[in-house]
Amino acid sequence: MPRGDGSGPRGEGPGTGRGLGQGGGRARMGGAGFGVGGECVCPNCGHRIAHQAGTPCNQIKCPKCGTLMARG
Ligand SMILES: [Zn+2]
Repeated sequence: MPRGDGSGPRGEGPGTGRGLGQGGGRARMGGAGFGVGGECVCPNCGHRIAHQAGTPCNQIKCPKCGTLMARG
């Protein structure tokens, strides 16, 4: 089978900036759902993510700039 090299651009891997942009920040914001897990906020760029149970915010790196998150 005469196939090409197949060396197409593959934007996969950490740090490519792609992949984490799927509806970020579109969590359920009904008002009552605040406080279940909380949020972590990046002190550098202000990016917020949902806090993951069992993982302190200060152990999570900001997906945008890599700064350690703080409690939001
Ligand atoms: Zn950040």
